[in-house]
Amino acid sequence: MDAEDFRQIRNAVRTLVREVVVPLEERIEDEDRIPDELRERTAEMGLFGYALPEEYGGLGVSMAEDVELAFEFGYTTPAFRSLFGTNNGIAGQVIAKFGSEEQKKAYLPRLASGELIGSFALTEAEAGSDPAGLRTTARRDGTDWVLDGAKRYITNAPLADLFVVFARSDPEQRGGRGISSFVVDARTPGVTVGPHDKKMGQAGAWTAEVFFDDARVPADALVGEEGRGYAKALTVLSRGRLHIAALCVGMAQRVLDESVAYAATAKQGGAPIGRFQLVQAHLADIHAELLAGRAMVRDVAARYDTGEDTSIGPSSAKLFCTENGRPRRRPCGAGARRPRLPPHHTGRALLPRRPALPALRGHQRGAAGDHRRRAAA
Ligand SMILES: Cc1cc2nc3c(=O)[nH]c(=O)nc-3n(C[C@H](O)[C@H](O)[C@H](O)COP(=O)(O)OP(=O)(O)OC[C@H]3O[C@@H](n4cnc5c(N)ncnc54)[C@H](O)[C@@H]3O)c2cc1C
Repeated sequence: MDAEDFRQIRNAVRTLVREVVVPLEERIEDEDRIPDELRERTAEMGLFGYALPEEYGGLGVSMAEDVELAFEFGYTTPAFRSLFGTNNGIAGQVIAKFGSEEQKKAYLPRLASGELIGSFALTEAEAGSDPAGLRTTARRDGTDWVLDGAKRYITNAPLADLFVVFARSDPEQRGGRGISSFVVDARTPGVTVGPHDKKMGQAGAWTAEVFFDDARVPADALVGEEGRGYAKALTVLSRGRLHIAALCVGMAQRVLDESVAYAATAKQGGAPIGRFQLVQAHLADIHAELLAGRAMVRDVAARYDTGEDTSIGPSSAKLFCTENGRPRRRPCGAGARRPRLPPHHTGRALLPRRPALPALRGHQRGAAGDHRRRAAA
């Protein structure tokens, strides 16, 4: 993509995130859903397909461009990115990279426009960190395939129109061998989705269990070569790791901005707490780690695009960037009242996400709103 075109897209995303999504964070948190009007606006901007190929209706960004957008998405609740993340990432990429021409034409334009939501169904109860242990089966019956099994923690499952499902098609094989991938219409008889999970964070981003009970799909639901699905899963998961690392860089930027704004105004002993050296040290740590994380993500993305490293670099970047924002020094005044961080910030930060007592909530919400307005100004 032309650099100027990309700059304009990045700026439009930044404006949308900071002027539209950030003010909606409280609502998204409280209602545990993305408002329909935001979904529509996101679709109009092409965000459901920014990483899908241009010839199928996407924007076709490179990995280096993808991470720049993720820096922007990370500045607000991760529920926002989750809405279109599976279309661009784990689900959409399997079809874009490994699908037949017919599958690409059938699904990618409608995923890119936001007409369809795609989900990636790999994880099972005993196949999480080690997905090669999955037990969902796919058996041939005539020319069809019949799927049986249960998946869990599947992002966007309650909204999904199609699932990219990984199942063992060769029961004789163990580990990563003998696993195939399928595109399954969510309306297929035998496919059911459980209620969305009650998570500890990321309100508005839905995950759920998905069950396949004698779910019959046609032969052309198979994506790519039979028995080679595991390699496909690893390929798209690696890309996703780098994207998540970039997302965390955006979150760290938000944490820094909110923390600086708070330290500049909250007073103790008549002085803003930002004048105290230990508070400054906390902020300096966050800033240094933010710069390191951003540089690392950009470097790894460039190497990903050239094909030099599509595996270890993304894992290292995710490891480093998801750890940012945790306290390196002992927080001062452990019982002291602290500002409420962006509602999506799920732990490990200097400061807690929600006050422990409901009675404090309204009070702190007002204060957090003030910080946000200042941060946005
Ligand atoms: C918000 C969210 C969204 C998700 N979305 C999707 C999705 O869209 N599609 C999908 O397929 N999956 C999804 N997942 C599932 C995710 O990929 C799994 O949660 C992840 O792979 C870990 O698996 P698990 O939760 O079963 O944990 P486990 O693998 O059971 O791990 C539990 C603990 O054991 C440790 N552990 C495991 N193996 C080892 C080992 N060999 N050595 C040392 N320690 C070990 C882990 O580090 C962890 O602390 C999602 C999960 C979350 C939380």
